[in-house]
Amino acid sequence: MTDSEVRPYKFVVRIKDELCTGCENCLPLCPYLAMKNIGNRVYVLEEKCRGCVRCLPACPEEAIYPVKIYLD
Ligand code: SF4
Ligand code: SF4
Repeated sequence: MTDSEVRPYKFVVRIKDELCTGCENCLPLCPYLAMKNIGNRVYVLEEKCRGCVRCLPACPEEAIYPVKIYLD
């Protein structure tokens, strides 16, 4: 059995700082209010993000990417 089978995890998205222009295309697509614009760029609140990736195709800069995070 590997670590990934026993450790609790979930998927979230992150945003590449250097690519995000703060256009907010992604913001209205998040049903869980997990995205916030702070200082002209968007951040993901990982505790709220459910990894549904609805926001991902909205980004013209391809700045949004999914990651697996461990919860322990
Ligand atoms: S992956 Fe889903 S829950 Fe997470 S920020 Fe994007 S739209 Fe919101
Ligand atoms: S759509 Fe992309 S560039 Fe626009 S605010 Fe969201 S992450 Fe940033």
